[in-house]
Amino acid sequence: MNSPQSPAPVSFSSMLCLRGHGVVKGYAIGRAVVMGAAALEVVHYRIQPEAVEEECERLRNALAQARNELQHMVAHLPEDAPREMGALLTVHSLLLDDRMLVESTCDLIVERHYNAEWALTTQGQILGEQFAAMEDEYLRERGSDIRQVIERVLRVLSGSPVALPTFESSYSGELIVVARDISPADMLRLRGARFGAFITDLGGATSHTAIVARSMNVPAVVGMGNVRSLIRDGDLLIVDGMSGAVLVNPPQFVLDEYVRRQAAYADDRAELGRLRDAESVTLDGVTVKLEANIELPEEAEAALAAGADGIGLFRSEFLFMGRRDLPSEEEQYEAYSSVVRAMQGRPVTIRTLDIGADKTLDGDATVATNPALGLRAIRYCLAHPELFQTQLRALLRASAHGKVRILVPMIAHLHEVHAVREAIAAAGRELDARGTDYDHSIEVGAMVEIPAIAIAIEPFIERLDFLSIGTNDLIQYTLAIDRADTDVSDLYDPMHPAVLRLISHTLNSAERWGKPVAVCGEMAGDSRVTRMLLGLGLREFSMHPQQLLDVKKEVRQSHTNALRVKVASALNRAERIDLDSLN
Ligand code: PEP
Ligand code: MG
Repeated sequence: MNSPQSPAPVSFSSMLCLRGHGVVKGYAIGRAVVMGAAALEVVHYRIQPEAVEEECERLRNALAQARNELQHMVAHLPEDAPREMGALLTVHSLLLDDRMLVESTCDLIVERHYNAEWALTTQGQILGEQFAAMEDEYLRERGSDIRQVIERVLRVLSGSPVALPTFESSYSGELIVVARDISPADMLRLRGARFGAFITDLGGATSHTAIVARSMNVPAVVGMGNVRSLIRDGDLLIVDGMSGAVLVNPPQFVLDEYVRRQAAYADDRAELGRLRDAESVTLDGVTVKLEANIELPEEAEAALAAGADGIGLFRSEFLFMGRRDLPSEEEQYEAYSSVVRAMQGRPVTIRTLDIGADKTLDGDATVATNPALGLRAIRYCLAHPELFQTQLRALLRASAHGKVRILVPMIAHLHEVHAVREAIAAAGRELDARGTDYDHSIEVGAMVEIPAIAIAIEPFIERLDFLSIGTNDLIQYTLAIDRADTDVSDLYDPMHPAVLRLISHTLNSAERWGKPVAVCGEMAGDSRVTRMLLGLGLREFSMHPQQLLDVKKEVRQSHTNALRVKVASALNRAERIDLDSLN
């Protein structure tokens, strides 16, 4: 990244320091381009009863035009467009067909005589509130898709073109996009322009801004509140994707410091790239497996590019989301086997559907009293045997093409393990009857993400082939902290001694039984805690492909024996581990 060209000197007293969530690492220094208010000014009026049909037709035409625009974009995606872009635009075009959007909006026109724009924004608010109340962070973020799609239709209704910032500027340094939120379609347009970072009012770690910025390797800070009211076009900005800090109009000495950090970071990344083919071995000769977490089959390529030893977690639920029908056995088989083939003999661990009562599938509209403790993951699958059998058959069929392991989320009871084994056997019998090939000794493992299983782990280890610790949920359930609730996010503490003792107990028990165990929660990809996890005895990490080389670097500089001693002594006293003391 370039430093800005001759930034205008600004006084220290004018510097503003803002903070959000850094979701893509890196530094950017450049001038702000503030995107206009995403919500359009909407005219509100009541139509005559006899004009109802005409107004509905006006709405349908606008929806059709918006859909055509999106489909045209999908069909003309530039070759170097990020992989997610096509899928995201397709999701938007599918939303334009959604009953909840189209029919419910027409109902408002028919019943309340609202004009199309008013009906659309009203229905958008209703859907937005429903999404905002969802427990699952990913699904909650999908509320922004609805908003973006509605804004596109409103623009069509108003006859105005999509408003995006203009980049005709005499400034030759980097430009930093400051927006309320950025839709995938906006991202596509922004790609061609010179820009060095995104900062947005809205969004979390799984927002589109984060997903696409991550794949484009552009620093991003999201969830900044009301950043657009504080930054003006042309302000000089420093964006720190690591800490989530955004400095507005910094003085020269701060600027100099960040130019230095930016250069050092670029050197670090270049050096890290050289580690791709280096062995993941500690200083005392212990080999550490580094695998990748993926959500979509296409991400297998990024895993390979990062030098992953395999796929440690394929979150299969992403195949089921953003659609009204369930993926067929054939569709799932294609998706799973494409990953298996892409990984060229490396193991692929596919997690069975982790969906909950709050994450409804195909009109399945039950709402649990407490979704995080409700009919989620394996509980949901065992309650829906047909859906589970379809997935298991697809998984088994994929195992004919390479090493596949089945990972089961949210296991808490032994009878669930038995039920899963029986379900896999039933799926196998069905394939035998068809004469279809599959791995008859496929390995079956469980996520350790409920404290109960971590505490009484031995019988589970005995009956399973491997374990994978899901720290994201293990922390949530151990500390009674809703992982998606920002009001208590400061209490979400991966370093709590109780959490570490559960991880330690799981690792030690699995070691005694000689069964493999990985960590696939976010902790595995956080290079600040790599040494501590090594000290706890972890030898298998699974993370986002982008984090893999950072973790490998730590592994190669660690000495496991020394770390084990230090970590054990803190754990015995149930004390917090001082990460600095492990360096
Ligand atoms: C976890 O809980 O740590 C995990 C990896 O699963 P998810 O984040 O998909 O719940
Ligand atoms: Mg989990």
